[in-house]
Amino acid sequence: MKNLEVNGRRYRWMSEPLVVVCVDGCEYDYLTEAARSGSAPFIAKLLAGGSAFQGDCVVPSFTNPNNLSIVTGAPPAVHGICGNYFYDREADAEVMMNDPKYLRAGTILAAFSKAGAKVAVVTAKDKLRKLLGHKLDGICFSSEKAAEATVAENGIDKVVDLVGMPVPSVYSAELSEFVFAAGVKLLETRRPDLMYLSTTDYIQHKFAPGTEGANRFYAMMDRYLAKMDAMGAVIALTADHGMNAKTKADGSPNVIYLQDAIDGWIGKGHARVILPITDPYVVHHGALGSFATVYVEGVDRTKVAERLERLEGIELVLDNAAACKRFELPPDRVGDLVVVSTRHVVLGTSASRHDLSGLDAPLRSHGGVSEQTVPLLFNRRAVEMPSRRLRNFDILDIALNHLESRAAVTAAAE
Ligand SMILES: [Zn+2]
Repeated sequence: MKNLEVNGRRYRWMSEPLVVVCVDGCEYDYLTEAARSGSAPFIAKLLAGGSAFQGDCVVPSFTNPNNLSIVTGAPPAVHGICGNYFYDREADAEVMMNDPKYLRAGTILAAFSKAGAKVAVVTAKDKLRKLLGHKLDGICFSSEKAAEATVAENGIDKVVDLVGMPVPSVYSAELSEFVFAAGVKLLETRRPDLMYLSTTDYIQHKFAPGTEGANRFYAMMDRYLAKMDAMGAVIALTADHGMNAKTKADGSPNVIYLQDAIDGWIGKGHARVILPITDPYVVHHGALGSFATVYVEGVDRTKVAERLERLEGIELVLDNAAACKRFELPPDRVGDLVVVSTRHVVLGTSASRHDLSGLDAPLRSHGGVSEQTVPLLFNRRAVEMPSRRLRNFDILDIALNHLESRAAVTAAAE
């Protein structure tokens, strides 16, 4: 059978249509709780069926680094995308990393499309579209900009008519529903060999596992997944990261303002705190996550690191080399220090730079090591699984190289 090598890993050609789903912010408990409540019978079947695993995502446990890891099958050290933002020392500018020019590796999606597979990508927010669709010969559009899709830019037009749903608000559960609805319609009308569906974590930022708001979302997702399963697709589901409550006992955000703290110790102008979670869509998390990187000039950075380590709520302070080794990050896009906060604590720059007025629910966020555990679920039996620690970016390897096809199972039974 045809094989493809991408970023040093081999992938078998798909024998049935493969749908890889990245559920944004999907802490494992969302699945088990939705299954337990009876609102997600298909997911319940997957959880009980033996092809449900837990793995680790990439730290920083943010959306873009993990989506890019999943579609390249490699960590940020290889593909270069380690956040939404980095500080370009040479240009002395904070730059957004959502342009494909920052991508240092090709995607598995593009490689399959070049080799002749029909490939389709649907993502909730447009911020990911260009990265995910880099050099892809196929379909690639976002829910957010579905109405603007053209054959020239997206490989498809009239998306809104096809999906049969109005274009949802960028802050809504429907933005993710649009992704699944589009996935079902694409499978029905074009039957792609490989499809990548990536949602948004609007609901996960607001609702904890097992709550009604969360279960409603997973019930919706369950219906679409069951449809795709019934249409004969292999379904491989994972997440970009988990999600935790980041509040104090009184419900207010539990924030350490790093820039304020460091400026207080060493004076202004020596340190620059970068929060790689920052992006144009900050309403639901106020740009507060559990990972920060700090550039330090003109003072002893080990002293700064020592003081940071002593702060209550800090889990980890590493220098550039140690952080890049441990988290497999590109050293040139990471500051002198990496700071990770504990499970229920987030990191900010200066209090005055965070607008928290948009937070209409107690803060839930991600970014740290405490949001690293993610699900890997399949609707086929997994065989000869790798014995090492699973990563979310193993999902395509497992889906293509370690699953029994339905045809094989049927043939064996006859
Ligand atoms: Zn995310």
